[in-house]
Amino acid sequence: MTGQGCLPVVFPPENDERLSSWIARLAPFYAMTVSEFVSALGLQGHDVFDLEWRISDGEEGLIAARTGLSREAVQAMTFRDLRSAARMMVARMNRYTCLLCPEEVHHKSAALPWKFRCPVHGLEFRDVTGAALSDRFGRDRFKTLEGCGVHSGRGQNDTLRVFAMSFHDIEDGIFVDAEIPCNPTI
Ligand SMILES: [Zn+2]
Repeated sequence: MTGQGCLPVVFPPENDERLSSWIARLAPFYAMTVSEFVSALGLQGHDVFDLEWRISDGEEGLIAARTGLSREAVQAMTFRDLRSAARMMVARMNRYTCLLCPEEVHHKSAALPWKFRCPVHGLEFRDVTGAALSDRFGRDRFKTLEGCGVHSGRGQNDTLRVFAMSFHDIEDGIFVDAEIPCNPTI
């Protein structure tokens, strides 16, 4: 288990699953704790929440080689497209839950305060008490929160999202959304 090579059994990550959730599902299969499993990936002493926040190319390569996942699939489970100042906005565990998602799968969206719906099922998230977000915020306020920004109606609040993303990403996103050609010399 500590040698090189690909692990014999690897569950594929769920859609929008975060790295900490995927590793927490794999570790018990090998009768290991999360930190033991992280060590077995060649990343001894690394914290799984640090890895999913800012994974380096080298760390990404180690996980890909050991699990057989593509580097893109590993990267997709991380928050590396968010800017540093936004880390406090990412919940360590689920901020919200979806009634239809398995309990052990933690989605990236469920950790972010600007996401209001499960990306897999489209259902409105529930808070820790089990209340739907539209009940917690009030239906009118929820509609306003959810409807903010260029992606209104897509289950997220862009005012918060824009704060969390780098200017470069937002700039690209706006150009793509508006179908305005981007002049790289500007
Ligand atoms: Zn769901």
